[in-house]
Amino acid sequence: MNYTSTRGDPTPRRFCEILLEGLAPDGGLYLPAHYPQIGDATLTRWRGLSYADLAFEILSLYIDDIPAADLKALAAKTYTAAVYGSEAIVPVRQLQAGDHPLYIQALSNGPTLAFKDMAMQLLGNLFEYELARRGETLNILGATSGDTGSAAEYAMRGKQGVRVFMLSPEGRMSPFQQAQMFSLQDANIHNIAVQGVFDDCQDIVKAVSNDLDFKRRYKIGTVNSINWARLLAQVVYYFAGYFQVTERNDQPVSFAVPSGNFGNVCAGHVARCMGLPIAQLVVATNENDVLDEFFRTGRYRVRASSETFETSSPSMDISKASNFERFVFDLLDRDGARVADLFGPGLARDGGFQLTPAEFERIAGFGFVSGKSSHADRLATIRSTWQAHQDMIDTHTADGLKVAREHLQPGLPMIVLETALPAKFAATIEEALGRQPLRPAALVGIEALPKRFTVMPVDAAQVKAFVARHCAA
Ligand SMILES: *Cc1c(COP(=O)(O)O)cnc(C)c1O
Repeated sequence: MNYTSTRGDPTPRRFCEILLEGLAPDGGLYLPAHYPQIGDATLTRWRGLSYADLAFEILSLYIDDIPAADLKALAAKTYTAAVYGSEAIVPVRQLQAGDHPLYIQALSNGPTLAFKDMAMQLLGNLFEYELARRGETLNILGATSGDTGSAAEYAMRGKQGVRVFMLSPEGRMSPFQQAQMFSLQDANIHNIAVQGVFDDCQDIVKAVSNDLDFKRRYKIGTVNSINWARLLAQVVYYFAGYFQVTERNDQPVSFAVPSGNFGNVCAGHVARCMGLPIAQLVVATNENDVLDEFFRTGRYRVRASSETFETSSPSMDISKASNFERFVFDLLDRDGARVADLFGPGLARDGGFQLTPAEFERIAGFGFVSGKSSHADRLATIRSTWQAHQDMIDTHTADGLKVAREHLQPGLPMIVLETALPAKFAATIEEALGRQPLRPAALVGIEALPKRFTVMPVDAAQVKAFVARHCAA
């Protein structure tokens, strides 16, 4: 399989060439040259597979530069019941039967209790494998306000050839999230608490990455959500969810996806393009409704940071959706020149774009619909779900469920993707239910564990010096 850029760079690249990279050289995102088509016979065969074997089958359609036996071993090592707490890995539970069947699929049973583990755990193993094969090392530099940073650290801890330098705004993560990250004692994980806000952390990462000399010398890389391997790993659980709620391949289902950077639901789009019978892909946003506006109007309008709200579903607080360009590329019949104009100069000039009416009409053919949810909606949804079903859901999943209910159709199963566990967002659960969230037994008391982190002012030079010092050691 070859990969191309959404902005038309025709250079063919294979999986391992793009594995450790971010953007394509022309500023676009990588996508496979085509989506392999999955027929009825293959779907039937896949129904019987374990999650790890299913992951291997799907990965191997897109990865032909890792020997099959190695890829199979990597999948088997990643998706284990020991790590995810069940053989199903992504168990589906039914919330409501009858005319409007409604399900929740748990993607949040990995080490950091958020769906980012599903992809990041595989990425950790792929990075270690590929770096060893090349005899190289990589220093991952990132900024986080919570879920991404901890998922990256738990995926990379103890891995050969990889160091992680993760910046977070001092004192601004929830005590639980801070404890998750700062309690890691692995020598290759470095937490830097920056005396500023999240944007300051991101600016430092940008400043360091823009110093090309430094970047090359210290082999700086990232693991952000535009990485194709992350997206590919997420395709697997759409198939796994489908198999759990259907008995035959002629039964369509819909998925509702709490969305921020459009990585999760973009994986659903890929699964649908491969032939998985998905009727609707329901994009749920919070008050940061860039994507809802687009799917309702065809207008994509990037928000300024002053227009980006801090909400109680913080992992969906985005001003622009970094993976969205991938879908637009497919929507526009893979016209790289048009995408380059819309997302390059067009976006810089106008802060967004508007599809033509003919282009907008095509969206329905891709199954996308959308809706948004507010803080009051989250509270009400968490409360009603707890009261009616004794099921405690987190704030992001509540956004998904709220919007899913608006798109239910008779006889069509709807699967809401659970993207985090309530334990991560105690304050809002307390506000909704008047009690503390449930917490997995292994994580009780983590706030009291010894913490390992370094405090630093908002100063890229000091971060560079810190990285240099640890690379020399
Ligand atoms: C990252 C995240 C999301 C948003 O996912 P995208 O792939 O960015 O759309 C939703 N919920 C939780 C809990 C997350 O961590």
